[in-house]
Amino acid sequence: MTLTGSCMCGDIHYSADVDEYLSALCHCTDCQKWTGGGFTSNAVVPRASLKVTKGTPSSYDAKGDSGKINKHFFCPTCGSSLYTELEIMADKTCIKAGGLDNGAANLGGKVDIEFYVKDRPSYLAPVDGAKQMPAFG
Ligand SMILES: [Zn+2]
Ligand SMILES: [Zn+2]
Repeated sequence: MTLTGSCMCGDIHYSADVDEYLSALCHCTDCQKWTGGGFTSNAVVPRASLKVTKGTPSSYDAKGDSGKINKHFFCPTCGSSLYTELEIMADKTCIKAGGLDNGAANLGGKVDIEFYVKDRPSYLAPVDGAKQMPAFG
């Protein structure tokens, strides 16, 4: 399948050709700060599969709990959160699913795993069937 997505203003577009992807929610406080939301929803794809097809994202390096760098890519014009590249997952890219087109933000209606459930807002319930990780990995 081909996943396509963009930022809110449309300056940045991207696509990823993948056979399948891992769907993951992350409730860590960095994800909350970065998006202004309670969590991020992610399509985790092979890093080589993601192509930026329009524009040039900006990036910001945050240091994760591991002490390794989590590189955050965003639109320099509208600020939309696009994807992250974690040093600890060197061959993966975490596309922020809210940017995906054609209803793919729904992640096919399934969540494989939830990270940092220790920081999950108390008004949210665990997703049925999703592996529950207190932190990462
Ligand atoms: Zn934009
Ligand atoms: Zn996170």
